[in-house]
Amino acid sequence: MTDCLFCRIVAGEVPAEVVHETDRTLAFRDVGPQAPTHVLVVPRAHHADVAALVDVDPALLADVMAAGVAVARAEGLDPGFRLVVNTGDDGGQTVQHVHLHVLGGRALGWPPG
Ligand code: AMP
Repeated sequence: MTDCLFCRIVAGEVPAEVVHETDRTLAFRDVGPQAPTHVLVVPRAHHADVAALVDVDPALLADVMAAGVAVARAEGLDPGFRLVVNTGDDGGQTVQHVHLHVLGGRALGWPPG
């Protein structure tokens, strides 16, 4: 069994509230939401971070971004939304399976804290 949390969610071994899926991506609500809408989009295939993903399968990164926009539209984030990919220790990445944060539902400050 893999010890990657998001691989386990993709496999259905760890429960998640799935809101969108394609043959190559899965989107589910973040357990610690930082905004009224906070959804994570992951590729079904394991890639540690966005740098690893773009090197081997940039089309899959495009699929992840497209899924993020589809989620934002489905969630009614018409006033705007934010797509974030934390990368590495300084980037604040805590789960080593690349994921896109889809945030919205309120005015989001800039720059982030
Ligand atoms: P990051 O810090 O960019 O790596 O983001 C990881 C995100 O995963 C955080 O926002 C966590 O709240 C979220 N998270 C951790 N465990 C789960 C889980 N079991 N289901 C959904 N989201 C999770």
